[in-house]
Amino acid sequence: MNLPNIPLAGVIGSPIAHSKSPQLHRHWLKTYGIPGHYIPMEVQSDDLETVIRTLPKMGFVGVNVTIPHKQAILSIADLVTDRATLIGAANTIIFRKDGKIHADNTDGYGFMENLKTGAPGWSPKSGPAAVLGAGGAARAVIASLLDSGAPEILLSNRTRVRAEKLKDDFGSRLRIFDWVQAGNMLEHASLVVNTTSLGMIGKGEMRVPLDGLQKQSVVTDLVYAPLKTKLLETAEEVGCVTVDGLGMLLHQAVPAFERWFGKRPEVDRATRAAALR
Ligand code: NAP
Repeated sequence: MNLPNIPLAGVIGSPIAHSKSPQLHRHWLKTYGIPGHYIPMEVQSDDLETVIRTLPKMGFVGVNVTIPHKQAILSIADLVTDRATLIGAANTIIFRKDGKIHADNTDGYGFMENLKTGAPGWSPKSGPAAVLGAGGAARAVIASLLDSGAPEILLSNRTRVRAEKLKDDFGSRLRIFDWVQAGNMLEHASLVVNTTSLGMIGKGEMRVPLDGLQKQSVVTDLVYAPLKTKLLETAEEVGCVTVDGLGMLLHQAVPAFERWFGKRPEVDRATRAAALR
């Protein structure tokens, strides 16, 4: 008797022990009664290509890639989506039946879905978005905001040249502010996004002056440890609608789970609870 193959997926990075993805995908596998497995894998940069080429031979249907492999994976993949190319990084790999390695970036999708759920009254077209930070996550956020019709992106980063590089890549709808003047972006922003690691447990606190925050702005933080950062706490005091970063992590996983396991999963309270466990 031939038993069906059990699909395997996982997440590759270094370090990997802190990743919430295993709890999340395992929760969905259990909820939908799918006989698959999701495994965290500590992989060093020198081994990335060998590992990626070996996994499909072992029954893997795909993997997530995280720090430090999100950029390097692009040169290993056979097919890279336009958005992953524009962002310059991939987080989701699909091992296709024809043997091709397909790389995509779902961070921007996760970011927008999180805002749709957490701030349903807000529209990307409603005004400028102020973005703090110009790292990998900022690239995904900016790509999705521009794609959704944001009229202007006000951008500030500690290292100004990195912000200028984003303007070169994404075009004239970006306006750069010096880091010391980042607070000036807030006054006219319909959305304020922190994409820096500031505010995260163990990192420094956000020191950008927040006096310019307006109560009609939506404020979101990509940092989700803690769930309520100082930025979100202050924004709440001002009366802003706030959206925490955990939802982005959950929503970015939806398209990957669907491609690997054939079921589009729900992001609900139980999903949040599973990721926080
Ligand atoms: P990254 O590429 O390393 O970028 C880090 C960003 O933080 C850069 O803009 C950097 O500025 C800034 N930064 C770091 N330390 C700073 C300091 N002391 N003062 C001012 N700015 C500082 O990292 P990333 O991949 O973009 O991730 C950024 C954050 O987003 C992380 O906390 C990550 O966990 C989070 N994230 C969350 C999700 C989610 O699903 N919620 C998804 C992706 C990322 P410089 O350019 O000046 O160094």
